[in-house]
Amino acid sequence: MEKERRPPTAQEMDSYRKRLVEEQERLWSEIRHDLRERLGPEYQDQIATIRDLEELAQADLQEDIVIEAVKARKTMLEEISQALWRMERGEYGKCLDCGRWICARRLAVEPWASRCLDCQKKMEREGRGRS
Ligand SMILES: [Zn+2]
Repeated sequence: MEKERRPPTAQEMDSYRKRLVEEQERLWSEIRHDLRERLGPEYQDQIATIRDLEELAQADLQEDIVIEAVKARKTMLEEISQALWRMERGEYGKCLDCGRWICARRLAVEPWASRCLDCQKKMEREGRGRS
């Protein structure tokens, strides 16, 4: 499983980028949906404009409701935005811990992966959680 270590091709990068953006959009529409359900009509316009965690932090919304809506999706959103950022910097596809290329098949399944499977497992064994 872990043997095909190589840089992603341009074509793969395009498809991973597309999937990351789609996933990000999906998570945000869920968050906006949650917020709309929990907050009153006076907040609806504000909610509609929120696109990232920074805008959400700046929005004047009830904090406990925001935390509740974002909670389960925050790690994923952060992983996605970090992956997109690495793409922009030309660093995408390399393991953050060992610097080797992440297996192509792993990226195809989880394009937001920031570590190779070896390092991910090692990290989980050491109980540092995901990041
Ligand atoms: Zn690694």
